[in-house]
Amino acid sequence: MVRTYRAVSLLGIPFDDNSSFERGPALAPDAVKQVLTSGSLNKGTELGVNLADNPKWFFADNVQFAQDMHFNDAIEQAVAAQLDSGQLVLSLGGDHSVSYPILKAYAKHFPTLNILHIDAHSDLYDSFKGNRFANACPFARVMEDNLCQRLVQIGIRTLNQHQVEQAQKFEVEMVEMRHWPLEQPLTFDGPVYLSLDIDGIDPAFAPGVSHREPGGLTTREVINLIHQIDAPLVGADVVEFNPNRDIDGVTAQVAAKLTKELAGKIIESSLS
Ligand code: MN
Ligand code: MN
Repeated sequence: MVRTYRAVSLLGIPFDDNSSFERGPALAPDAVKQVLTSGSLNKGTELGVNLADNPKWFFADNVQFAQDMHFNDAIEQAVAAQLDSGQLVLSLGGDHSVSYPILKAYAKHFPTLNILHIDAHSDLYDSFKGNRFANACPFARVMEDNLCQRLVQIGIRTLNQHQVEQAQKFEVEMVEMRHWPLEQPLTFDGPVYLSLDIDGIDPAFAPGVSHREPGGLTTREVINLIHQIDAPLVGADVVEFNPNRDIDGVTAQVAAKLTKELAGKIIESSLS
């Protein structure tokens, strides 16, 4: 499918039913939007994209969840509606379970998608506490459904034997934090989707997460990873920010900054 995209839609996903530990990521979309519209930061990105009054990005209405529709279908349909109207998606909020339905919609538009996944956790559990859609499982579902040609994981520092076996089974390319930094920059062939779990960043920089895992990436390192993507960035999610665990809005500010840089990178690399 040859298609041109004219804008990036910031789509809030107020959903945390699949959080395996603490609720809160449902509050993230409004918390990030509040920072982005507060006047506390300007609208220029580090790569020189001016987001002020820029028609190439806009806030869409948050995804609506109805009793009579499965949550995965609600998310997939909302993302598909954006893509079908020529808008790429930068989603805000939710626990990490939201990435599976997002990527189901993306795979229909981008059959050769590469996924860059930043996270403390590999999220490859076949099932977690009996829930195959838990926030610990999305990339097992993604790989089973062949929703990407390549999955690269960065920031991982919580592996157990099951997850090692899952990574081998699905041929996941994983850069464990104990081996950081990269020996050479990542290179991609074809469109890239970035799934950004805020707990990939060290909790010293981003304490507002449900699963604080020390020994992570700096905010700077994540920004540089975004900037250095050498292929079209066609979409991204910012997940697992939990405003209930934040300290003085520090993590909200980190999430907003990363959202800006992601929006700028998508505009610069993928919009016509
Ligand atoms: Mn995750
Ligand atoms: Mn995580």
